[in-house]
Amino acid sequence: MSRMISVEEAGEAIIHVGRRMYERGYVAANDGNVSVRISQDRVLVTPTGMSKGFMARSDLVVVDMAGRKVSGKREPTSEVKMHVRAYELRDDVNAVAHAHPPYATAYAVAGIPLEECILPEVILTLGSVPLARYGTPSTEEVPESIEGVVMRSDAFLLKNHGVMTVGPDVLGAYHKMETVEHFAHISFIAGQLGRVKPLAREEVDKLVNLREHLGIKGPYPGCVESGTCSVGDSVDESRLVKMIVEEVVKTLREGKHALD
Ligand SMILES: [Zn+2]
Repeated sequence: MSRMISVEEAGEAIIHVGRRMYERGYVAANDGNVSVRISQDRVLVTPTGMSKGFMARSDLVVVDMAGRKVSGKREPTSEVKMHVRAYELRDDVNAVAHAHPPYATAYAVAGIPLEECILPEVILTLGSVPLARYGTPSTEEVPESIEGVVMRSDAFLLKNHGVMTVGPDVLGAYHKMETVEHFAHISFIAGQLGRVKPLAREEVDKLVNLREHLGIKGPYPGCVESGTCSVGDSVDESRLVKMIVEEVVKTLREGKHALD
C-alpha cells in the first residue's frame, strides 16, 4: 500500500474531484460518490443526499471497513459498501470514484463493455473497460457485482448504472473516469461514422511493452474478450490454437504453403 494521506488532504482532494465531476456533467442532482482510504481501517467518503459539486469538508463522513459511520454529521453514501469492498480486495487501491457520465453510462445501459483496442492512450492507462453485472443500488448486490472486475481492472462499467474507477489516489481514480468517458464518447462517434478499426495485434503488443517500461500499475485486462487482439501471456490456449488455425487457413487460401 502506498503512503497514507491525512484526513485534511483527503478531504480537499474529494471536494476538488466532486466539483470537477459535477461541472463536467458526470453526475446529476445528488448522484455519484468518492472515497479515500485514510488508514488501514478508515475511509473518508462523500455524504448521501447532497450534490457532489458543492461539498464542504464538514460534509464528509468517516466509515470503517464494514461501511459503518465512525464520525461526521451527515450519513455516508448509500454505495459505501461498494467502496469498502474495493479496498478490501485491492491493497494498491486508496481511492474510489463513482459517477454516471452519459456516454460511458449509455454503453453500460446497452450492455456493451469498452474493450476494443482502438486508442493507444486508453490501452496504456486502462487496458480495457469491462462490464460488471447489474446490482440493485445500495444493496449487497452492488459490492458483489464488482468483485470479479475490480480484481482485473482499474475502471469498469456498472450495468444499467454508471462507471466506477479506482486508483492509488483520488486524482488518479478521477482521471480514469475522464479517460473512460472520453473513450466512450469517441467510440460512440466512430460507431456513427460506421468504421471502428481496432489497432493491429502488433501495435497493441508494443503498447503493452511500453506500459511495462513505464511501470504503469494496476491489472492489465487487455482486450482479449473483444477478440480483437492478443495480450502476451494472458491469451488462453484455446484462443491461441484458434489464432494459429486461422493463420494457417488464411495462408492456404492465399495459395501459399503453410509448411515448406
Ligand atoms: Zn450511481
